[in-house]
Amino acid sequence: MSDDSNNTMSQEVPEHCPGTQSSQAGKSSACQGCPNQNICASGQANQPDPDIEVIKDHLKNIKYKILVLSGKGGVGKSTVCGQISYALAAQYESQNKQIGALDIDICGPSLPQVFGVQGEQVHQSGSGWSPIFVDENLSLMSIGFLLPSLEDAVIWRGPKKNGMIKQFLRDVDWEELEYLLVDTPPGTSDEHLSIVQYLKPAGLTGAIIVTTPQEVSLLDVRKEITFCKKVGVPIIGVVENMSGFACPKCKIESKIFPPSTGGAEKMCEEMNVTFLGKVPIDPLIGQCCDEGKSFVKEFPNSPASLAYKNIITKIEKYTELNGE
Ligand code: SF4
Repeated sequence: MSDDSNNTMSQEVPEHCPGTQSSQAGKSSACQGCPNQNICASGQANQPDPDIEVIKDHLKNIKYKILVLSGKGGVGKSTVCGQISYALAAQYESQNKQIGALDIDICGPSLPQVFGVQGEQVHQSGSGWSPIFVDENLSLMSIGFLLPSLEDAVIWRGPKKNGMIKQFLRDVDWEELEYLLVDTPPGTSDEHLSIVQYLKPAGLTGAIIVTTPQEVSLLDVRKEITFCKKVGVPIIGVVENMSGFACPKCKIESKIFPPSTGGAEKMCEEMNVTFLGKVPIDPLIGQCCDEGKSFVKEFPNSPASLAYKNIITKIEKYTELNGE
């Protein structure tokens, strides 16, 4: 893979970097010995990034760009991102429209597994990196394709992660897409600030936030909603995942994760955010993700598939109303 050739800054920066945009850039004690000290002290690093315009132009053929966020790990964000992508691809297949997924969960890229394309090699041509086709109208680009093995951990500091996100946005050769879903790491980190910085000027449609019904997860979702409001990312809505388990034999529903404070629906009312729906626990979803299959295609009449279909109807309504 090529290096980030437009970036003249070294990505090896001290742990306590005050931030290249801060007034202390190049002057703080943490900057002593940093290879970027001269550039930061001169104020050059504080200039608008010229790649923002390059990315805007590069992504102009992607109609809707959606971030998939979660307050914490383990709520099934990548599963939801993968199954919504599959459901949208099925929905737009007859119209020959393309759906893309971009996995920037640098420390835990799961989408190659969810889409059954782990171990695939990304090819590079004159027009950039070619995403991997999962289906005729569904393609994926993931950091997972760039790691030597699935067991490899990515131990990168902020600037290097951010450089990779920029490279993904600038160098992946997407076709004309109807939707691009971006699977992000849990929480609100440097990666989120980077993706928002680059995607907003290119027309970021909004964010879908995934949670489970428990208060411990909802607490972090409230922070995620506050983050979106602060950085000006519209919230398309919240998905409550793992919302009850309907026994396929006796049909009795059990609450595996009890919604002690009313669950995501009540939180959405309180925070004036759209509730997109509840996806029940179904062991077959996990099985489909392990086998890289589309759950909504394999089990179209299950309650979870119907939930996914309702969710994408709400997403489509939002995108129609709120434009490109
Ligand atoms: S010189 Fe710049 S990049 Fe290096 S630590 Fe200071 S602000 Fe960060």
